[in-house]
Amino acid sequence: MPTKLRKLKEEAVISCTKRLHNMGNFIGWTGVGHKEGQRIHTAYCKYCRLYVQVILRPLPNEINIGGNAVAITCPNNPYKEPIKARLKSPIIN
Ligand SMILES: [Zn+2]
Repeated sequence: MPTKLRKLKEEAVISCTKRLHNMGNFIGWTGVGHKEGQRIHTAYCKYCRLYVQVILRPLPNEINIGGNAVAITCPNNPYKEPIKARLKSPIIN
């Protein structure tokens, strides 16, 4: 995985974890208007299904890191605190 993409994913997961989400692994897909190989990587919170997406080379109307999981605090986290161990675990995909 390119280093910059990995950094973006780590940054995204850290932001979501601070908002109490418990993010699953990223899944890459080709977005509308994107060439093949310019993937959008999306991960969902295991508690509430809000998402974060990472785009290495965003279109002019897009951003590197976006999604409702970076904007909204997790409503379903049963512990009401971030998953600290998650920050140390490797990010797959
Ligand atoms: Zn959540």
